[in-house]
Amino acid sequence: MDLRNIATHELGHAAGLGDIYNPAYSYVTMYGYSHTGDTEKTTLAAPDIKGLQKIYGK
Ligand SMILES: [Zn+2]
Repeated sequence: MDLRNIATHELGHAAGLGDIYNPAYSYVTMYGYSHTGDTEKTTLAAPDIKGLQKIYGK
């Protein structure tokens, strides 16, 4: 497991984001499942950013 991958995801939770389980969004940081070698989630994807904007306003 990529540590930054998990850390970014957990930071998302700390910021108030929930898990996403829609397979169409498997690339986003807040997707609820991860796999070994997954490094797609070390940065925020557009839906992650949208979620944050929803919580905190623009
Ligand atoms: Zn999670």
